[in-house]
Amino acid sequence: MIIELKYNVTPKQIAALSDLIRQHGRTPRLLNGLKQIVFNISAVTGAIRDRLQEFRTLPFVDDLLETETAPDCYEIRLFFKLNAIEENVWDTMARLSALHCRYVRSEGERRIMIDPVDDALADTLRQLPYVDSVMPAGRRYKLVSREYCRTDSAVSIGGAVIGRGNFQFIAGPCAVESLEQMRTAAAALTRAGVRIIRGGAFKPRTSPYDFQGLGREGLDILRQIKEEFGVAVTTEAVSTETLREVAEVADCIQIGARNAQNYNLLERVADTGKPVLLKRGMASTVEEWFSAAEYLMARGCFEVILCERGIKTFESATRNTLDLSAVVIAKRETHLPVVVDPCHAAGRLALIPGLSRAAIAAGADGLIVEAHPNPPEALSDAAQQIPTADFAQYKDDLQPFIALMEKYQ
Ligand code: PEP
Ligand code: MN
Repeated sequence: MIIELKYNVTPKQIAALSDLIRQHGRTPRLLNGLKQIVFNISAVTGAIRDRLQEFRTLPFVDDLLETETAPDCYEIRLFFKLNAIEENVWDTMARLSALHCRYVRSEGERRIMIDPVDDALADTLRQLPYVDSVMPAGRRYKLVSREYCRTDSAVSIGGAVIGRGNFQFIAGPCAVESLEQMRTAAAALTRAGVRIIRGGAFKPRTSPYDFQGLGREGLDILRQIKEEFGVAVTTEAVSTETLREVAEVADCIQIGARNAQNYNLLERVADTGKPVLLKRGMASTVEEWFSAAEYLMARGCFEVILCERGIKTFESATRNTLDLSAVVIAKRETHLPVVVDPCHAAGRLALIPGLSRAAIAAGADGLIVEAHPNPPEALSDAAQQIPTADFAQYKDDLQPFIALMEKYQ
């Protein structure tokens, strides 16, 4: 269960609460708290106090708490919602600067997790004056759930926002093959308005004899593409050994279907502090997929994007079966942005436009699509990559559907 503490909880009270929980034979785990900004204003700036009330109406602000620290002097704490992203914090700091307020930022600890659920303990904790709520979620996943965070989360990948009404295309080759290939792809894709480029440097391949990716050389190419085109990149991490190098380049780290339940890798990826695009395992249930996301969030990674990429079924007409029910469920039951990968589901080009339209209609917040300058020559997944020269047309054809869903770019 998760205990949400009141804003004005003191470190001493947190320590007392932890002791109480331990007395009940449970281990409390402090979760990263909400971002907050603290600042002081005095009576001279009384008008500012009124202006500050407007901050309450910002969609990413949870609350403002005013404490009179001396006559006519106030300490103001501004709390962000769980799903506030860095841009929201910067935006707020800019507004405060415009009002000539001096502030400090901090990351609070306001949530405690204890498992398993203990109803008697939950009742005791509810009585405490500094406990706001106790969520006795019996489910495997809590932090990803809508109960925990009612409004949609957004994730910023190098400034390109996905979720909370923002739709993004993530596009690029299956694998980084050469600088020239990535340059040609990035030129066409950025011209079409793509702001996040994909490309695997480390490729998890079914056969050990297949092209395994360029590895570190691939990461160098991605670094050059970022600089030259001013784009964000997402690339896959396949092992903890090379994670540090991947995290240096990636604006978003991809967890592939084959690693979707590699919990050690998930935790280490969460520790990098980068946004994560989490593919659903090809034989994972929806609950297993959400639980993998919970691993990331319980470790303090709040920028998680779920990605449906098709699952194994008896059907052989497609490479995998795109499970759009899972997209609808993910949008209903979690607050996370959801993207769809129609390419790894379909396995062939002809199906991609139709599946993309269906994904948008199901509520997806974005599409991650493979696009290659010359698909027949691709070193991996040749049949499912859109020729980069055709990408603008593919994207334009989807705009009316995105608009219909009231998602903007
Ligand atoms: C990929 O997107 O490069 C990839 C390997 O996909 P998946 O993990 O979904 O198979
Ligand atoms: Mn691929």
